[in-house]
Amino acid sequence: MADPFLSIQSVKKSFGNVAVVKDFNLDVGAGEFVSFLGPSGCGKTTMLRIVAGFEEPSAGKVLIGGKDVTGLKPNQRNIGMVFQAYALFPNLTVAQNIGFGLKVAGMPKAEAQARIDEMLAIIKLPDFGDRYPYQLSGGQQQRIALARALAPKPKLLLLDEPLSALDAKVRISLREEIRSIQKKLGITTIFVTHDQEEALSMSDRIVVMNEGRADQTGTPFEIYNRPSTKFVANFVGTLNVLEGTISDAASGTVKINAEEIGLKGKLNGSKAGDTLSLALRPEAISLGRKAGNDSNLTGQIADVHFLGSVIRVRVGVGQNVVSLDTFNSPSSPPPVVGQKTEISFSSGDVLVLH
Ligand code: ATP
Repeated sequence: MADPFLSIQSVKKSFGNVAVVKDFNLDVGAGEFVSFLGPSGCGKTTMLRIVAGFEEPSAGKVLIGGKDVTGLKPNQRNIGMVFQAYALFPNLTVAQNIGFGLKVAGMPKAEAQARIDEMLAIIKLPDFGDRYPYQLSGGQQQRIALARALAPKPKLLLLDEPLSALDAKVRISLREEIRSIQKKLGITTIFVTHDQEEALSMSDRIVVMNEGRADQTGTPFEIYNRPSTKFVANFVGTLNVLEGTISDAASGTVKINAEEIGLKGKLNGSKAGDTLSLALRPEAISLGRKAGNDSNLTGQIADVHFLGSVIRVRVGVGQNVVSLDTFNSPSSPPPVVGQKTEISFSSGDVLVLH
């Protein structure tokens, strides 16, 4: 990246002798929305707090706008932050909450009021200025927290699981709203979440974190379709794993139970007799043979879940059970549990996890 707006360079962080962030590197472009995604305890929040200046790294540097801010306090970094807990001041009105940072910065009253009104319009709560936080729903409180963070026009927005305390429906609508406000303002944003769907649906790029490291950094499409590690493949999305044994490495022949499939060009460095985990997303597998699919296996239907437009079918293939999705067709009968069936897929869609 030519001129990253945020640059995290070889950052490490230990608490006592526990290494929580291990050599973390990331460049974020101006206006980009990047998520830190990973399980609880992987170091996402710690990394975000280092960017914010609430934690000092044990090693490494943080640059914002090309300037080394590693030694600077949070209020010297021109950042806005929203936390999981709403953290609004309960004794201040919505307008006073949004204007808090403006007042601290000494902005004249009329100018501050104009900015507060502008922020209330952006978060689509124009008439809420005189309310108190206890008079708001959780989703409204988070929108106010976002407005408060954005009012001083920070250059970098840091969001730490801002949706995780909300119920599912509000969460989904706020996802879209946050993303659209972020795009409209063009503000560079880091979003911490353990929710893969949130990360996939909102981000320009995702950093999947595992035990203090960035396992993979890529677009949602890349992370989902081309996971580079077993951890990423398992953490993001539903994954079917079939255990296979290489019968001929040169031709790429792999034996699964008593059947063979060809994975030419995908077995780099492996030899006959090696065992492999072959992973497939549910949407990459078809029930029955299908034109264009070069691999077939036989199995038996173990489970059928009718979900409306989609039917999720689980098929036993030897020792493994794979899930696949088939579209409902009103004129044909649904699959039947116990039925013998073939499944098919394209070898190009198989992820080989060594
Ligand atoms: P979560 O989603 O649960 O918040 P996370 O990925 O954000 O997880 P962190 O909050 O960064 O993880 O914590 C990573 C590890 O560092 C955890 O094991 C945590 O207990 C530890 N940790 C965090 N802050 C401190 C601290 N101030 N002192 C000691 N250990 C800490």
